[in-house]
Amino acid sequence: MNKVNATRQNTMQHIVDKLPAVIFEYTVFPDGSRDFTYVSPRCKEILGLSQEIILSGVLPIRSFIHPEDWEDFSRSTETSIAATTEWKWMGRILYENKETWVETNGTPTQMEDGRVAWSGLITDITSRMDSEQRQRHAERSYRNLLEQIPLGVGIHKNGKLIYVNEYALKMMAARTPEDMIGKNVIDFVHPQYREIAISRVKKALDGETAPVMEEQYIRVDGKVIDVEVSSHPFTYEGEPAVQVIVKDITDKKVAQETIRKAETLFSQLFQNSPFAIVMLNDKGAVVRINKGFEEMFGFTGEELSGKELNQFIVPDALESEGNDLNSLITSYRVIRIETHRIRKDTSPLSVIIYGVPVHLDDTTIGIFGVYVDITERKKVEEELKIRNTELDNFVYKVSHDLRAPLSSVLGLVNLASLPGNDDNLKEYLPLIGQKVRQLDHFISDVLSHSKNLKLDVKIGKIDFENVIHQTFKDLSYLEGANSIRKEIAIEGVDFHSDPWRIAEIFRNLISNAIKYRNLGHPAPSIHIFIKQTPQAAEIIFKDNGIGIDASNRIRIFEMFYRASEQSEGSGLGLYIVKNAVDKLGGEVTVESEAGQGTSFTIILPNLVSSLENP
Ligand code: ADP
Repeated sequence: MNKVNATRQNTMQHIVDKLPAVIFEYTVFPDGSRDFTYVSPRCKEILGLSQEIILSGVLPIRSFIHPEDWEDFSRSTETSIAATTEWKWMGRILYENKETWVETNGTPTQMEDGRVAWSGLITDITSRMDSEQRQRHAERSYRNLLEQIPLGVGIHKNGKLIYVNEYALKMMAARTPEDMIGKNVIDFVHPQYREIAISRVKKALDGETAPVMEEQYIRVDGKVIDVEVSSHPFTYEGEPAVQVIVKDITDKKVAQETIRKAETLFSQLFQNSPFAIVMLNDKGAVVRINKGFEEMFGFTGEELSGKELNQFIVPDALESEGNDLNSLITSYRVIRIETHRIRKDTSPLSVIIYGVPVHLDDTTIGIFGVYVDITERKKVEEELKIRNTELDNFVYKVSHDLRAPLSSVLGLVNLASLPGNDDNLKEYLPLIGQKVRQLDHFISDVLSHSKNLKLDVKIGKIDFENVIHQTFKDLSYLEGANSIRKEIAIEGVDFHSDPWRIAEIFRNLISNAIKYRNLGHPAPSIHIFIKQTPQAAEIIFKDNGIGIDASNRIRIFEMFYRASEQSEGSGLGLYIVKNAVDKLGGEVTVESEAGQGTSFTIILPNLVSSLENP
């Protein structure tokens, strides 16, 4: 280096050192790392930061940029680094509580080794910054901030939009700011909300914030969107304006609507299902019951809500089994149980319960209990069982009881036709007659039973006196019928029931009193006491006949059961009585002792009420 050059360089250095600015070089290396590679010494004076500190890189740049200006700083550097363009920035350096306004200007140079170096000046402009400039800077940084936030922001003055942020443009499907800037702000509001929007703008112009409310906006492309809007008073370039902050909630609305629909679908299904359904929470307490459940069990939703279901509908005897639905809290299985439950009025129910645990993310959030009332089905099954047993008995009985008298008759006929039989054949006739009558009774008892099963209850007024009179008349052919002493007492109000079944009951019980009278007794008798009330009739048949011993007493109502040698009957009479009384909704009981006589007591409901209110 010659002397002239050396002197020039010294002079240059001198100028640089004396400049009221900092000269810098900032390098971005090919590996992406970056740092200051040169700053002139006056940085200490101007920025308050020594050359060593800056060049050593011990302090990250962020630590000496004013926090309010950092966003802006980092965005401007990133942009010029990414595009290798000139870097211009104005903002504040803050170091050890000293605030310095600076303006920076750097030009990039691409080096051969792949580095890019920005060199330029950092000038202290603190003294130049008057209040208006500071204000403008603040506005600019604020706007920069607005461009960052994920909310639509617009500013309007005199009804016209003067600013919209990037986010708002996207939200409103605007391709360029011109699609919105300068336009009437109210045109973007759905007509349905214009009136309220105008009043909110006024409010903001009066210096009050119009709080968040839901409105609808019309986008540039005409599509309607749901938004949440708040309007705030704002000063723009010294004049009153309104700043609007907008959040697009269209997706949220759609999701809400989908949820609402799903909920409606579910609750309609739940509520109107023909089954009784209860929803339990994860603790096993009742959350909800449906109409079907209320109808089946007689409880209201309020009565059960939040309570433990089992204590209301599980019969005492089944308490140990009662944990069924609750046991599903930890289960993934659907269960099916056939069991009994009770209604609010404690009447029993046969039910099938389906228990369905509901899971969300691996935890049980609730349980559905679906109840199907099978009481009627159970009844029919029971009835069917009884009829099947009857049928079995019947086949057996028919083969025996029908064939026995027929064989006797056949025997007598064979005897009569024997060659050389010189008996007076007429003597056979009463024997044959008796057997045929026996057969006839058997068949009419079977028919009577079948009729009782099939025939609907037909209600009419019962004239007990006439029933008794007619029965004795019909039974007058029975031996002893006319000599038996009758004592009859009837009292009370009108009574209604099924005349045919009443007649059947009387025919069987009176004929039994006659048939099973005590042949050794000087004065066989039958007493019939009847007491009628608006609710029921109590009918007592009391005789002084042979009586029934304890072991037989419990079986006399069975089909084909005969308890006496004296019986020539079918063993169906009391079975018919019991069935008829059941059909009429009544009860029959017997008291008897061998040799002492028998007393049947029948209680029948007065069916007058169902006659009056068919
Ligand atoms: P049956 O055709 O044998 O009369 P029922 O069903 O009418 O059949 O009676 C069953 C049995 O009960 C009879 O066989 C008889 O032993 C006994 N029984 C019924 N009524 C009386 C009565 N009033 N006194 C004594 N025993 C009776």
